[in-house]
Amino acid sequence: MIPFSPPRIDQKIIDEVTDTLKSGWWTTGPKTKLFEQRLTDYCGNRKTFCVSSATAGLELMLRWFGVKEGDEVIIPAYTYTATANVVVHCGATPVMADVNEDFNISLAEIQRLITNKTKVIIPVDMAGMPCDYDEIMHLAKDSSSLFSPSTEVQKKLGRVLILSDSAHSIGGEYKGQKTGSLTDVSVFSFHAVKNLATAEGGGIALNLPKQFDCEELYKYLNTFSLHGQSKDALAKTQKGGWRYDVIEPGYKCNMTDIQASIGLVELERYESDTLKRRKGIFDRYSAGFSQYHWAQLPVAITNDKTSSYHIYMLRLNGFKEEQRDEVIQGIFDKDVSVNVHFQPLPLLTAYKSRGYKMEDYPKAFDNYQREITLPMYYTLTNEQVDEVIAAVVESVEKVLNNS
Ligand SMILES: *Cc1c(COP(=O)(O)O)cnc(C)c1O
Repeated sequence: MIPFSPPRIDQKIIDEVTDTLKSGWWTTGPKTKLFEQRLTDYCGNRKTFCVSSATAGLELMLRWFGVKEGDEVIIPAYTYTATANVVVHCGATPVMADVNEDFNISLAEIQRLITNKTKVIIPVDMAGMPCDYDEIMHLAKDSSSLFSPSTEVQKKLGRVLILSDSAHSIGGEYKGQKTGSLTDVSVFSFHAVKNLATAEGGGIALNLPKQFDCEELYKYLNTFSLHGQSKDALAKTQKGGWRYDVIEPGYKCNMTDIQASIGLVELERYESDTLKRRKGIFDRYSAGFSQYHWAQLPVAITNDKTSSYHIYMLRLNGFKEEQRDEVIQGIFDKDVSVNVHFQPLPLLTAYKSRGYKMEDYPKAFDNYQREITLPMYYTLTNEQVDEVIAAVVESVEKVLNNS
């Protein structure tokens, strides 16, 4: 069986984790701080804060911005449920937008949906392709007269916050700049199946405008992610440093040094090794499928964008959901694991029951019903890529011949 997305566990990772275990410092400490610094150096943003997951990072930033009941947050209908769940956690309403051919949120849809209740827009860089950030930032600024701030932070920004769900897109580029530096705040995921994994983990890349002191915000997030406690565990180890205060009832979602040690190894080899291999696999798939009229190949490079090659999203021209499902069954029967990214949120019970209707998002549904995600990870060999291609071709042609 060719697995879908196993983690890369080699001696380098084991050595670095062992080093952390033996150091006696397991929770947030020197390695987390170093990992944050290296991420900032890599992405070119102002400051980075690491947390236990992208989900926690997104929620922390919504809470920081003061998103609450009665507020609206615009998100794409086509995304993983985390993007919407964090909005619901804050008591606010996710307002879903349809997407483009490239799976990313439609600018025209944002324009149609933005109101004086909109506090945040969460674009999602699907598969690692950055959204149209220049246009989205222009829209945010142009709509500032509509914005009605209700907290000090909101007044200070003076417009909707653009909070990028960059769970897929670390290393992706837009107009020569890396994700993390493209908008106000971008949140990366370091979950085991993501491009750069720390088992579980997330990174908040801060790149807010000048009126925000990112160093100060970093300190605030440090406290806010540790129960609002005025001193973190490391500071408390200082002589006589036992006494602390709790400023406000905060959350508990800090990154550990064990996670950060994996991240340090992965980040060091990310550009030269990981991304190179992922691109190699992506291009081999595309070359393999290019001769088939039924294959719609994903796009990873445009005039102003380069993908981080997170997932290979193949679409089958003219297919309906049931036919696609049949193809997937056929591929599994050939011992190849595939997936679908994603079921649009209105298909899921939690959101269907909140009144979202799939027929309101025709593009999202059409992208979904024709989509199959193929395995793509560092240790996948060229021979395995060819096996996957053969399994897909055979399965598709069988379904086409039977219909
Ligand atoms: C994986 C993922 C997340 C959540 O990441 P975690 O680190 O697991 O919280 C959020 N958004 C998208 C689009 C994802 O794919």
